[in-house]
Amino acid sequence: MQAITILGSTGSIGVSTLDVIARHPDRYRVFALTAHSRVKELAQQCSQFKPEVAVVGTAEAAQELTQLLRAQDSATQVEYGPQALCAVAGAAGCDTVMAAIVGAAGLEPSLAAARAGKKLLLANKEALVMSGQLFMDAVKENGATLLPIDSEHNAIFQCLPRAYGREPDAHGVAKIVLTASGGPFLRRDVATLEAVTPEEAVAHPNWVMGRKISVDSATMMNKGLEVIEAHWLFGASADRIEVLIHPQSVIHSMVSYVDGSLLAQLGNPDMRTPIAHALAYPERIVSGVGPVDLAKIGQLQFLAPDFERFPCLKLAYEALEAGGSAAAILNAANEVAVQAFLDREIGFRMIDQLIHRVMDRLPGRTVTDLEDLLDQDRDARRLAHACITT
Ligand code: NAD
Ligand code: MG
Repeated sequence: MQAITILGSTGSIGVSTLDVIARHPDRYRVFALTAHSRVKELAQQCSQFKPEVAVVGTAEAAQELTQLLRAQDSATQVEYGPQALCAVAGAAGCDTVMAAIVGAAGLEPSLAAARAGKKLLLANKEALVMSGQLFMDAVKENGATLLPIDSEHNAIFQCLPRAYGREPDAHGVAKIVLTASGGPFLRRDVATLEAVTPEEAVAHPNWVMGRKISVDSATMMNKGLEVIEAHWLFGASADRIEVLIHPQSVIHSMVSYVDGSLLAQLGNPDMRTPIAHALAYPERIVSGVGPVDLAKIGQLQFLAPDFERFPCLKLAYEALEAGGSAAAILNAANEVAVQAFLDREIGFRMIDQLIHRVMDRLPGRTVTDLEDLLDQDRDARRLAHACITT
């Protein structure tokens, strides 16, 4: 029986994780659930899954949750705040942590799970993008097991040999090919992009996801973050990581080998597949996702990405090449820009312009430790906010 902590249980990944867990009560039980502000949803999850601990963002939210849980005679203990998140991620009572908080807020709890040597299922790509080497060192030094949930990275993981040790050459890996749907604006006239609304940007053609990652998919910053994520997970340099647009989202990514073989993982666009894969690894369990009906799909298309249409993708490659804190700065500027776009403070095209400006004025430098990294993250956010208001 695996005891699981789900960081961000009320989000899109969190809900999909609980859906898979509910199918296997003989294998998994929930140790802790966490949510930022959606207290009612969390209370419902607590009544179904009976975790030992539930964590929310603030004291007020904790009070509200406590009342809701009291009404249902629940034994779940309620905590709140960032320290409580780190505590449930590293607690002796859990074996496996699903890191599914969105953005930089997930960094410290994800790191806490790595430092406690947990089996760590990583959806929160921003955490790895920001902290890169620091994160991978924590995994290694503490004997944690890191399994990718992002569908592309999970696909790549499935296409690599079991003994793969982040050394492409040792295993004949020539390239990693990340597929991308191209998002809702793949074929839209570039001249009209400035006028797109948050509603249009979050309407992804194939996947149902949280708002932040949906906007990232529309700008293709999501794929940019995934290039950086792939670099850290698989030890491949930027020139070995290729992006290929594949509008059907059936091939979730591929690995190209020196002998000319190209291995791909296919599946319906449903995150329960990578979640079930990582939960049960190296076994296989039912996820609730049906088989791919290729005859019904009929055709798969592929095209090269256009950096002019998607400048965010280029910025991410530049941040990876620059190294140090450049990726954390890119990520921080992107988080601020996406939130400002969702709040209708800036237009869609301002997202890439703002990130560009922040990266220009704040070049990355070597990161000494977590404190230093968080300082640089804060500086980048401050500068991004200043760029919006001036
Ligand atoms: P979401 O917005 O649906 O959910 C986010 C979760 O994080 C919620 O439970 C929320 O309560 C919690 N949260 C938000 N801000 C917080 C804060 N400041 N402190 C603590 N908790 C906070 O997001 P999502 O789509 O589920 O994505 C989660 C992560 O998984 C992201 O990093 C995303 O890039 C990654 N991911 C998502 C998908 C997908 O299909 N949704 C696919 C691949 C990767
Ligand atoms: Mg992905």
